[in-house]
Amino acid sequence: MWKNCNGQPDEFRISRARMVETQLVPRGINDRLVLEAMNRVPRHLFVDEALKNQAYSDHPLPIAEGQTISQPYIVALMTQELGLKGHEKVLEIGTGSGYQAAVLAEIADRVYTVERKSALLARARKLFDRLGYKNIVVKLDDGTWGWPSEAPFDAILVTAASPVIPAPLTEQLGDPGVMIIPVGDEFSQTLVKVTNKDGRMETSSLGGVRFVKLIGEHGWKN
Ligand code: SAH
Repeated sequence: MWKNCNGQPDEFRISRARMVETQLVPRGINDRLVLEAMNRVPRHLFVDEALKNQAYSDHPLPIAEGQTISQPYIVALMTQELGLKGHEKVLEIGTGSGYQAAVLAEIADRVYTVERKSALLARARKLFDRLGYKNIVVKLDDGTWGWPSEAPFDAILVTAASPVIPAPLTEQLGDPGVMIIPVGDEFSQTLVKVTNKDGRMETSSLGGVRFVKLIGEHGWKN
């Protein structure tokens, strides 16, 4: 029987492959690295035991502390838009369950992820250890400040919604570099892509989304 990286039989392997084939490929996710990562990361381990059977369904799910894990398609879309090839140093703001960080870690060289809620971070860190993700570094902090000592980053992914793009994140984006962040009010946002190249920053819109709030000095004030 096929075993996952944890040495356990993986009863969700087929659900995961079906998620990729029915939710991602038909909607334009075509980056092989992203599809492979989504096919590998055991999403059911990142949600509550009680929600395990919905882990590969086409919608977001609640995690602890009133937060949410994004719909698989949104995770795949944001990852694909970063255009990762494998050598990158990536910053994620909003570790949450750790699922998005694991998807990034499957592709990139190193992932730095920041979470402001200690219970979420503790659970995610445990899971990274258990699954053998040695290239994920975590920090408990207000991520709107970024991670100055590790900057610049080739890619920055913010998985909570902000009224503005936090200035420290723009400053910590490398050249070349790409950042994806949901920007808007607390009910609806636009997924914004910031591309930094040859000293010039350009922004484009990837469509409407809804994320939980980015709470911090350069996001929503608590
Ligand atoms: N990427 C996550 C989902 C994140 S939900 C996953 O794959 O599961 C958004 C997360 O952002 C929540 O866990 C919330 O606590 C966190 N968050 C909100 N404001 C933050 C801030 N200023 N710094 C770090 N994390 C923050």
